Amino acid sequence: MFAAANHLCLLNSVLRAVNLGTVVLDTECRVVYWNTWMELHSGRSRDSVLGQDFFAVHPELRGHRVDAAIHQALRNNFPSLLSQSLNKAPFPLFARSNAVGRTERIQQAVEITPIEVEGTARHCLIQISDVSVAVGREKLLREQAMVLRSQTFADGLTGIANRRHFDVTMEKEQRRAKRGNTTLSLLMIDIDNFKAYNDHYGHQKGDQCLIQVAAALAGMLKRPSDLMARYGGEEFAMILPETDVEQAKLMGEAIRQRALELAIPHAHGCCGDRQITVSIGIATQLANAAVDVSMLIGAADRALYLAKRNGRNRVEALLPGS
Ligand code: GH3
Ligand code: MG
Ligand code: MG
Repeated sequence: MFAAANHLCLLNSVLRAVNLGTVVLDTECRVVYWNTWMELHSGRSRDSVLGQDFFAVHPELRGHRVDAAIHQALRNNFPSLLSQSLNKAPFPLFARSNAVGRTERIQQAVEITPIEVEGTARHCLIQISDVSVAVGREKLLREQAMVLRSQTFADGLTGIANRRHFDVTMEKEQRRAKRGNTTLSLLMIDIDNFKAYNDHYGHQKGDQCLIQVAAALAGMLKRPSDLMARYGGEEFAMILPETDVEQAKLMGEAIRQRALELAIPHAHGCCGDRQITVSIGIATQLANAAVDVSMLIGAADRALYLAKRNGRNRVEALLPGS
């Protein structure tokens, strides 16, 4: 007898100390047990809820997945596990019950289990675990993965799309243009006499110049499908889907002008302009043309070479295969 009382005492202490919300409902959904953890995190004392209808205590849970699970347990003797990813924190539970301005609910995993007690109708046990730390960690990992993903597609110096991003987008847009029988233009943009700029002003100034030019060019994109990338060194590439030869030439000319507007001094600039200039080579894939990515890039490269040979600070355009 003494041992049994002791055992009950111990059991009560264990239930009080357990780091888990524990609620027991009778067959009529009345609260018959509400542990210390629940008092602490819900702000509701045991005395205020014992004997009450559970849905009078938590009216917002009526018709909720928790409601269905409780009825499954009481009527059909089925246990349920409500994961935090599918059921966003159903109980109004907070880190500290008396905290001022408590806004963020504890993230919860809820387990609802039928209990058969001999001589009584079926009860149901609700266990709520605080999974906030795990959910927080998961969120952090997701955010870190997104940052890493964006970094693998961004150029370290200028922050614009990098070569890998260019390659992926080029393949995608080229396939899309072929499928949809649309035009696709590629602009290769190369800073003129940049070696001389580095030699004269130093590598750090050279880096600053690249950052400035990249930002100005990226700022010229108008549509979400357009891409400006650092192709390598002092060379940039612009992908313009659904853009024909004339539209691409207009953009090329606008880019050449934009570079001039930056008015970055260059003691050994070309054509007597003592400032940074760019040369641009354009290639356009026409609708229905049997062209692949390497042919398009090859044509833009040749057009760029032509612009350099014809004196720099100019725009030249070619069709792939010409
Ligand atoms: P051109 O007008 O024919 O294009 O002449 P260029 O001097 O611009 O061309 P070249 O290919 O001879 O030189 C490119 C220079 O770009 C050489 C290289 O030092 C510089 N460069 C490439 N990447 C970077 C970079 O990340 N930072 C700096 N500061 N310079 C770079
Ligand atoms: Mg150059
Ligand atoms: Mg170059």
